[in-house]
Amino acid sequence: MLTALRGGHGDAPDALRIDGHAMSRERLLAAATAAADRFAGASAVAVLARPTAATVTAVVGGLLAGVPVVPLPPDAGPKERDHILRDSGAALLAVGPGEQVPDGVTIPAVPVDPAARSATTHPEPEPGATALVLYTSGTTGAPKGAVVSRRAVAADLDALAAAWAWTAEDTLVHGLPLFHVHGLVLGVLGALRTGSRLVHTGRPTPAAYAAAGGTLYFGVPTVWSRVAADEAAARSLAGARLLVSGSAPLPVPVFERLQALSGQRPIERYGMTETLITVSTRADGERRPGSVGIPVEGVRTRLLGEDGTPLPHDGESVGELQVRGATLFDGYLGRPDADAQSWTDDGWFRTGDVAVVGADGFHRIVGRASVDLIKSGGFKIGAGEVEAALRDHPAVSDAAVVGAPDTDLGQAVVAYVVTDGAVTGDQLSAFVADRLSVHKRPRRVVLVDELPRNAMGKVLKKQLLTES
Ligand code: ATP
Ligand code: MG
Repeated sequence: MLTALRGGHGDAPDALRIDGHAMSRERLLAAATAAADRFAGASAVAVLARPTAATVTAVVGGLLAGVPVVPLPPDAGPKERDHILRDSGAALLAVGPGEQVPDGVTIPAVPVDPAARSATTHPEPEPGATALVLYTSGTTGAPKGAVVSRRAVAADLDALAAAWAWTAEDTLVHGLPLFHVHGLVLGVLGALRTGSRLVHTGRPTPAAYAAAGGTLYFGVPTVWSRVAADEAAARSLAGARLLVSGSAPLPVPVFERLQALSGQRPIERYGMTETLITVSTRADGERRPGSVGIPVEGVRTRLLGEDGTPLPHDGESVGELQVRGATLFDGYLGRPDADAQSWTDDGWFRTGDVAVVGADGFHRIVGRASVDLIKSGGFKIGAGEVEAALRDHPAVSDAAVVGAPDTDLGQAVVAYVVTDGAVTGDQLSAFVADRLSVHKRPRRVVLVDELPRNAMGKVLKKQLLTES
């Protein structure tokens, strides 16, 4: 599955740079094989996924041994950690040199050392075997374990490589967490399949991105927003080949500022833990702000209305995005209820996201059906449209809009806005009144210091709703 790992061809001594280590792919293979020797035969191995060489070694070791890998967020509290360990049935916990086993973990810990070496040949597992059990971000409920096959990972990475013309000539730079699909599957395994170099920056700061000297950069919108706010860092990316954003919507002003400073039009991708990647702007295609592009190779999408009928791709119809294709997961671990809700009778996966598709196939993600589609006074309002209107104000740096329960309207549009202090809530209400029809205007504008976000930069709207 990690074809380039065994390639040997053009193997740079610093093919992988992470937490102060530089490793060739040959070194990584030898260390990961030593880890695989210790994991072989286990039901699943959990990896305390700090951004370290040990984590990469452990994940690759699991893949070599054919043992499902369960990345564990290193900062997960005891409750989330217990949930993932118990739910996944992991038999071992891989820990790097000098790392503490978290309190309360009862399964055996296996030390993994990126300096170890083994030359055992582990037989290549079947393509249908489980590669990873990836837990969803828990934005809308308790994290669910998505069972992801080796075949799906391979299909995903090949589709990405094709869409982004990603080759062994590239140096990928990112500083994303290694317990999530974005940083781990796309960001680490992608480099090991394409043979590109990988520089993990640790924290994804603008200065670290500016100093990394890559051709291909991955980030979540929060990272790009910080880069766009740091003129020197943004300008330093002028020579890069591609800046890619995903995991949450990239605000149009951030796109525009990145372009103004670096000359780069970032490309967007849309995906989920369950679908890996689904839709992306192509490197050789049009890069349209506010659009995530077209389905990648091997993936098909459709839009369904609330009554279950297919909607036209006309750039206007808003419906639930459904997906089928080679990159899809196998199902949720131990969650027949979630499986039953997520698949249609005719085999499509229901993303729970609401989208619009143009006649040219370009997709625009409106948001999550559960929180971003506000039903107010008989109207359906996309939170993203109201957020975009607020972000048009120069004093607004961030905005999130929710539908708060309202006895009169069903739901009322409520906006949470981060500003630089140069504008009041009333002024913002007046500002958006020029841009939005009456039913879309926020009933309340709440000024806040920052929006609650998770590690992937996703706004925790459920949390805002409990406050509103
Ligand atoms: P949970 O399923 O546990 O509630 P989650 O859905 O946030 O958490 P992930 O699988 O990490 O967990 O995230 C997938 C979601 O992220 C998608 O369903 C979509 O709502 C959002 N998303 C990803 N990429 C984009 C993008 N480019 N634009 C808009 N939304 C995106
Ligand atoms: Mg989800």
